[in-house]
Amino acid sequence: MILVTGGAGYIGSHCVQALLDAGRDVVIFDNLSTGHRETVEKLAGAGFVEGDLKNPADINGVFEKFDIEAVVHFAAFSQVGESVKEPYKYFQNNVCGSMNLLEAMVKHDCKKIVFSSTAAVYGEPDYTPIDENHPKHPINPYGETKLTVEMIMDDFEKAYGLKSVRLRYFNVAGADAQGRIGEWHEPETHLIPNVLKAAINPGKTFNLFGDDYPTKDGTCVRDYIDVNDLIDAHLLALKYLQSGGGTNVFNLGTQTGSTVKEVFETCKKVTGKEIPYEIQPRREGDPAILVADNKKAREILDWQPSRTLNDSVKNAWNWECQFINLNK
Ligand code: UDP
Repeated sequence: MILVTGGAGYIGSHCVQALLDAGRDVVIFDNLSTGHRETVEKLAGAGFVEGDLKNPADINGVFEKFDIEAVVHFAAFSQVGESVKEPYKYFQNNVCGSMNLLEAMVKHDCKKIVFSSTAAVYGEPDYTPIDENHPKHPINPYGETKLTVEMIMDDFEKAYGLKSVRLRYFNVAGADAQGRIGEWHEPETHLIPNVLKAAINPGKTFNLFGDDYPTKDGTCVRDYIDVNDLIDAHLLALKYLQSGGGTNVFNLGTQTGSTVKEVFETCKKVTGKEIPYEIQPRREGDPAILVADNKKAREILDWQPSRTLNDSVKNAWNWECQFINLNK
């Protein structure tokens, strides 16, 4: 049985779906603070425990009830802006929650974990594309919490032999290709869903943050990795750990950058709509360029991202259209 914490959230739910599609036994652990019960209900075949990592009894109960062979750990708050305003909430949830999970794992002799980390651990890039050895100097509490958990995992390896694979995500995009699940954040802060919401909701305008960056068209460059490719890497990371692989860290990105304007144009093409937009000042804390060097994941995990930005936007649009129909 694989335990997926945060399995009711955007990326976690895609992982649960992929594990189920691969015939694996899965139990979801989620407190539904940002994840959704409706998402869990769609993941037929997975077990579900509603609980909070901040409460050690909740997570210990899962290990007492189920025979957990490995954990994929997504449960975390992930909004950069909010983390700046409410650091206690982020450290308590992301760091203390992860400590309780790791402690419960060790107590129940479960020593393999795939951890959802982030490119935010690198902070403002010194060079690009960014490889895993790039200096780590996060510039917001969100990135700090993820880096702290990575460091705690190192200490747990030394003390207890815990093996971890930390996957540092760049910009995750898209949805399930069959339209079963997709991105659902409240509030939504991410680029692609915000552009698509402006395409579908009359009267809504897309706000483009900054067109005076030192990039080819003045807008920020990001590395958009399709959620299905991202999840492929999680399954490969599990396989790697379960076949004796040691603690490791991998960037997950495509190694290709797209500007905000290029993403916006892709959205216009996919939706076939004119999308109202306004140029706004830069958003605080946005580096000009973030692109992954993904060589290590390709070489060691044998990972091969194959979906294009167009694929991600198409699946996201399919999901967004269903979503508006469901929530009318
Ligand atoms: N962005 C934007 N308007 C939005 C949301 C995002 O212009 O409504 C820009 C943002 O400034 C950044 C890029 O799109 O340059 C990607 O932002 P997102 O929040 O999706 O991901 P992040 O890079 O912050 O992880």
